[in-house]
Amino acid sequence: MQKILIVEDEIQLAFGLKDNLELEGYQVEVANNGLEGYEQLTKSQFDLVLLDVMLPGMSGFEILKRIRQLGNVTPVIMVTAKSDEIDKVLGLELGADDYMTKPFSLRELFARVKAVLRRQSGSPISVTTPVTIGILTVDFANYTANHNGESVAMTPKEIEVLKFLWERKNQTVSRDELLTQVWGYDETISSRTVDNFILKIRQKMEEDSAHPKHIITIHGVGYKLIP
Ligand code: CA
Repeated sequence: MQKILIVEDEIQLAFGLKDNLELEGYQVEVANNGLEGYEQLTKSQFDLVLLDVMLPGMSGFEILKRIRQLGNVTPVIMVTAKSDEIDKVLGLELGADDYMTKPFSLRELFARVKAVLRRQSGSPISVTTPVTIGILTVDFANYTANHNGESVAMTPKEIEVLKFLWERKNQTVSRDELLTQVWGYDETISSRTVDNFILKIRQKMEEDSAHPKHIITIHGVGYKLIP
């Protein structure tokens, strides 16, 4: 399970982001000031940091500079309240992997987090051309989906679940497999979560989601995708 640190002094924003990222299957820690953020980064391993620029204690730029000096290569997405180009460039020159300007949508956040983590893991995307499943055309490489040319909103996790099933099409995939392979084992994610994701995916790709023809439930075990 991938671990994200949010360094953000706006408490409400920090915990809102934490909740939403956790729903996407990440493990999330929050630091509410710069010193705490820096300390956490030097003590624990993270797969990604969302680093606010303006922070009490130590600025996001300072934190980034210091951890890079220590040889810490954790991917960093800088978050800034200013749309100032200089801030952006400065962040990237200091070794940030990406930046976001507040306010940003969850959709944008998920897409960037996903992209940075994907670059980081260097895991090759095996499916490079869009595939058609049910009424949906899915581009796994770009995390997009459409129906009759109209874009269909899907979360990165929904796309990943669908991709996992597609790569094992016509085979039964157990809930446990989905949990451990797509989410990574985590006791806070239950098989109910998997079922909820399947439900949402079906609503987007089945002609009639009440009578699914493409993601079939295998009772007591899991699911099977039939293209
Ligand atoms: Ca701030």
